[in-house]
Amino acid sequence: MPDRDNTYSTNQIRKISQCHSSYGKKTRLASPKLDRWKDLNKAIVDWLNNDALEETSVKVAEENNFQFYDTIQKRILSDLFTRFRTIYPKRNSNFNHEYLIKEAIKEIDGEEYGITTHFAYEFEDDNQYEYIRLKTAHDPEPELIDRAIITKLKSENEEFYTAAIELDDLVEIEMVENPDEIIDDYFNILEDYLEGRKKRTPGKQCDYCDQASRCGQFPLINADKITNRIREVKISKTNLVKLSNCERRTAWNVQYGLPREDFIEYESESVATKFHQFSQEILVNNEKFSEKQNIESFNQLTNEEDEVTREQLYLKYQQLVSQLNNYEDLIIKESEYILGFTCITEGKGLRDGKVIDQKVATIFTGKSDLAGRLGDIPLIIELKTRPEIPEDFLEAQLYALGASQLMKSEKEIIVLHIYVSDNNASVKERKFGISELESAKAKFEDIAKKPASWIPFDALSPSHKVGEWCDYCEFKNTCTEFR
Ligand code: SF4
Ligand code: SF4
Repeated sequence: MPDRDNTYSTNQIRKISQCHSSYGKKTRLASPKLDRWKDLNKAIVDWLNNDALEETSVKVAEENNFQFYDTIQKRILSDLFTRFRTIYPKRNSNFNHEYLIKEAIKEIDGEEYGITTHFAYEFEDDNQYEYIRLKTAHDPEPELIDRAIITKLKSENEEFYTAAIELDDLVEIEMVENPDEIIDDYFNILEDYLEGRKKRTPGKQCDYCDQASRCGQFPLINADKITNRIREVKISKTNLVKLSNCERRTAWNVQYGLPREDFIEYESESVATKFHQFSQEILVNNEKFSEKQNIESFNQLTNEEDEVTREQLYLKYQQLVSQLNNYEDLIIKESEYILGFTCITEGKGLRDGKVIDQKVATIFTGKSDLAGRLGDIPLIIELKTRPEIPEDFLEAQLYALGASQLMKSEKEIIVLHIYVSDNNASVKERKFGISELESAKAKFEDIAKKPASWIPFDALSPSHKVGEWCDYCEFKNTCTEFR
């Protein structure tokens, strides 16, 4: 069996496959869904191990494990707990829940390495085993690598299921046809990681990564180091804008992870999204973007779209280039450019169920549409297909401060907001010199005091403010009930 240090869970390998730096020491970033999942799991174990009457064993399990939560989260947990008991009622089998794994092993450079898939529960009856994975997300299917390891190592007397709690279903885990090939692919990912553990690959994965305050992508702006005593909260640009209207709305998204009421399984891409994607595709590393022929080649990119959409996209792109042409020496190097920073402030935390003073780090993250340079000056471009709103200034400050850290320029950053419609376009240009960057920093230090004051486990601690924004709020019903 491989040494523990050489053993990686499938979850860790999934992280590594996205960004090597995202696999690191445990941090204290708010991960409410994971916390709730752990406590739900403990409640299930308590209930299964308790031979008392059903009603009593349920009550004891809930009291023991859900007590520190506010009423909203208690309700979520109780609901998930009830669902589990419905899809997997107590039965007369031997029950085990400790370190249940299946492990694929391979030798790399003379050392043994392992990739493990985990199960929450094992039930044994007459030498027949059932392994259960617990899943509370909407998509219950395990990752390919989990299925491959299960397929390869399954014995005849074993069965594998996912308790898909949100779907109220016990789903048998499907085997794969080519387990060895899949497992090999994942060992290749591991091998690549072992050769360069610090490689950083920013992307969508930054939103779910707990190493953001440490990896260098979101540098500290008002402290030299961050320790494990500091609790952390991550706020995306979208949630930053929401925060200026209502703290509760942002807090429920980023600190408490309450279920959103507007869950949409599939939404077709809008013309605006397509405009962003095609423009990014053609503009990055394209020094000839202003030439007539080059502009026309935009039409080739859109040839799978219907005629009306193509026409709209082309008109918008022409408008966009007409604005970019005002800038000489413009080089666009990146699209979907991830940037931001981390700000530490005094705040509140919980120890042994009691509220205490504690430092809190807030990681502000953003993803600009385009980034490059105007001569020597770093430049960030944001494309908008709507009119200007006041919050665009806050967004520009976020980008400027993030870019000043990441693009190593503390002297000047330019942020362009380009507002594009089919027959018009305008630009808002903002230059951030030393004093503008200082005031942006002061502003974000002030904003960071809000998340620092939210009490972990108490979703009712952040204040709420009713306004016109409530019409579009993803928590409208829950919020109204708990005002
Ligand atoms: S925050 Fe992004 S870049 Fe940094 S380690 Fe995580 S995934 Fe990688
Ligand atoms: S409904 Fe309104 S008050 Fe309630 S969380 Fe949403 S934005 Fe805030």
